[in-house]
Amino acid sequence: MKVEFFKHNIGQEEIDAATQVLHSVFLTNASQTIVFEKRFSEYLGIAHTVAVNSCTAALHLALEAFGIGEGDEVITTPMSFIATSNAILHARATPVFVDIEPDTGNIDTTRIEAAITDKTKAILPVHLYGNLCDMKAIRTLADKHDLIVIEDAAHCIEGERDGVRVGELGDAAGFSFYATKNITSGEGGALSLHDGDVAEKLLKLRLHGINKDAASRYTGKFQHWDMDTLGYKYNISDIHSSLLLGQLERIETLLEAREKVSQFYERRFLESGVRFVKVPPATKSARHLFVIQTDNRDDTILKLQQTNIGVAVNYNPIHLNSYYREAFGYKEGDFPLAEQFGASVISIPLYPKLTEEAYEYVAQSVIDTVRS
Ligand SMILES: *Cc1c(COP(=O)(O)O)cnc(C)c1O
Repeated sequence: MKVEFFKHNIGQEEIDAATQVLHSVFLTNASQTIVFEKRFSEYLGIAHTVAVNSCTAALHLALEAFGIGEGDEVITTPMSFIATSNAILHARATPVFVDIEPDTGNIDTTRIEAAITDKTKAILPVHLYGNLCDMKAIRTLADKHDLIVIEDAAHCIEGERDGVRVGELGDAAGFSFYATKNITSGEGGALSLHDGDVAEKLLKLRLHGINKDAASRYTGKFQHWDMDTLGYKYNISDIHSSLLLGQLERIETLLEAREKVSQFYERRFLESGVRFVKVPPATKSARHLFVIQTDNRDDTILKLQQTNIGVAVNYNPIHLNSYYREAFGYKEGDFPLAEQFGASVISIPLYPKLTEEAYEYVAQSVIDTVRS
């Protein structure tokens, strides 16, 4: 048996919707994107969504739109995909890492205050694997020190904790629709936020800083446009938005399917002593990744690959990448909890298309491999 690490959920409905866009006049950012932004906002219960071409772009734009730049420090976690802190660098600000909680892998909110300086302007927490950070604690700290909070919610569209939903307490939340995310258009992203004035700014920043979007330039009465701000080429296309709309409608059903597989893994691993990252109490997990932990991680990966099971590592900590070592002088030992955690994690297949036979095979192979 062979089990892919991931399979997407683009079905006939999405293919039909994308085909319709392909038969239309205008392929890029237009009506389907506007509908997607509206539905995504409704789903989250957040007033505004600006769709872009990646979560990296969303985080970068959020930092710029909230006025964060050169000389500013942004507190974040080393236990994430490099996109999180790269976005801070794209905004010409400095990432300041804070070590993690060893059981969730999320930023340890009790360590944040010690990292705040006169230069700190924002906190950028990551809801790792789909489990929300302690957003109440983060909001309280941010209010006390007058900081912006931008959530990296690439793993966590559906997440909730302590009655708080993703993006609810942050100033903005960035989402990813990259190929392996919970809903996907291959590439894509969005930023959801409460403040309408900042949302207006973002609409402009995502398209070069010009004051008319492409669709209204094309379809409206001829009008000259002007560029008054330096923006970016970060807009999404209607082809992508049309692929996302149907998946968004099914998002809770897709989550139920991942929840079922996750609970099966949890039962099997608890009874056989395989370590895994657990969902904290009072949390509705978005169940983006299922992560086991072992002391001999690379050896376990090789053995699992020999049983034809696709696996991934999410993540080796950011600060140990060559660029970060060279630019900031980071070294092993700087964030010991993130390093230990990162050295132990293996993500195993978790997606709605996993058949019962496949996830039973994965669980058994993991148990056999870890025990051997
Ligand atoms: C995927 C991911 C990103 C980047 O998303 P893109 O859409 O590929 O830019 C950022 N943060 C985390 C935690 C991710 O997993």
